[in-house]
Amino acid sequence: MSLLSPAAANFQGTVPVLIVGGGGCGLTAALSAKQCGAEVLVLERDQTALGTTAMSTGLIPAPGSRFQKAKGIIDSPEQFAADVMAKTKNATDTEMALHLSREGAPTVEWLADYCDVPLSLVDSFLYPGHSRMRMHGTPNRTGSELMGALHQAAERESIDIILEAQVTNLFADDTQRVHGVRLTRPDGSTEDIGCDALILACCGFAGSREMLQQYIPEILEATFFGHPGNKGDAIAWGRELGAAVADIHSYQGHGGLAYGQGIPILWAHIVRGGFQVNANGVRFSNEARGYSEQAVEIVAQPGHWAWSIFDQKIHDAMKEFDDYQDAIKANCIRHAETLDALCNITGLPDALKATLAAVADMAAGKTKDAFGRDFTTGSILQPPYKAVKVSGALFHTQGGLVVDKHARVLRADKTPLPNLFAGGGAARGISGPGNSGYLAGNGLLAATALGRFAGIAAAKLVKAFA
Ligand SMILES: Cc1cc2nc3c(=O)[nH]c(=O)nc-3n(C[C@H](O)[C@H](O)[C@H](O)COP(=O)(O)OP(=O)(O)OC[C@H]3O[C@@H](n4cnc5c(N)ncnc54)[C@H](O)[C@@H]3O)c2cc1C
Repeated sequence: MSLLSPAAANFQGTVPVLIVGGGGCGLTAALSAKQCGAEVLVLERDQTALGTTAMSTGLIPAPGSRFQKAKGIIDSPEQFAADVMAKTKNATDTEMALHLSREGAPTVEWLADYCDVPLSLVDSFLYPGHSRMRMHGTPNRTGSELMGALHQAAERESIDIILEAQVTNLFADDTQRVHGVRLTRPDGSTEDIGCDALILACCGFAGSREMLQQYIPEILEATFFGHPGNKGDAIAWGRELGAAVADIHSYQGHGGLAYGQGIPILWAHIVRGGFQVNANGVRFSNEARGYSEQAVEIVAQPGHWAWSIFDQKIHDAMKEFDDYQDAIKANCIRHAETLDALCNITGLPDALKATLAAVADMAAGKTKDAFGRDFTTGSILQPPYKAVKVSGALFHTQGGLVVDKHARVLRADKTPLPNLFAGGGAARGISGPGNSGYLAGNGLLAATALGRFAGIAAAKLVKAFA
């Protein structure tokens, strides 16, 4: 049992708002609770508080933001929510999708203004499923820059983060009120810390083989490229407390992880006209549906890998992304002046030439794609060509605790637990039930917006106790 009776606790201190997990959601929650006047403490199991967030590209969707307006982009929360609903085929919570859509711009502007995160609009390409350019990111488009800025803001606000503090148990009474937590140190010693409100910001279960086996076996053969410390603790505790859990099979995959290198090749290379082939030199799916669902398509190919094929023009445009620069430095991006050279460097059969010719015809509008992709929205590839070998990857899970608009954890009957909040990967996302509903930005939107609400609501709750 991971729940313990408060009578068994030996609290060495009590804080008003306690946060489990020091990734994007945890630090956002801490900063917003502090801004609302509550004292907070963050507990993080790792030696550094970075989480999945620091591994990410750090892009957050924010329809109607001032950054979009400055570039003359007309967008609205309703438009974004419609994109979310279309991507999930209407299989996510409509109200939550609209709520997070509405809060994207205020959250991004709050991150920029209060947390000093240097954000700007990504206006160079449209992510699959987004009808407007609405992704906001740091100068080099990295989650590590985002986390760096959040850490600086936390330091400025004197927010304490205890590292190497793995929360193992919650102390809860018969009314499901959480009185505190027990944490375990690397040497096996334990400490109990009391709280008035608890925010679960410890993400999902991508780091648990057992839970993946149980809920998402289709992705077990993929390369795991998420945070290994995310073991599904929030879901386990929530369940014991009677919380509702939804979309447990949902996850963000990625069909473009540089093979053997662990560097994500962003989907802009596909959106702009690139495509993927398997070991036989032939395409096997509609790559433009999205990068998440492409992961299992690649896992199903011989050897579980594919080659992304594109050209010099796309290569040059991709240099905007730090990850891509890393891929260049790691020699993942192969160069070929001619079709013959492309076959040589990839080791793919001549069928690749016929595939390229077929793609050119589709891009010119002469023929239609059997997989249903519209190639006319991208460019017709020209030599010299570029190629990168990729594997299908699991990034993080999207199912989790059902929360309301204030990030309060709900029971099955929709009543909130007394003092428990959740956000980010710990909460149910807005990506529907499977692998195909993930729209770029869903992860960090849930982490930052729900983190912010959790901080505000928890601060309000503890002030009521004071
Ligand atoms: C390569 C990659 C690229 C991505 N790019 C994007 C993107 O551009 N945009 C986007 O929206 N999303 C992106 N995502 C997804 C995004 O990173 C996640 O959705 C988001 O970071 C989740 O934030 P979080 O705070 O919930 O979790 P995390 O950032 O993972 O933080 C959770 C923290 O909790 C800690 N923890 C876990 N259990 C415990 C415990 N028991 N006790 C104490 N601490 C604990 C962990 O160590 C971790 O530090 C990407 C993901 C990957 C892997």
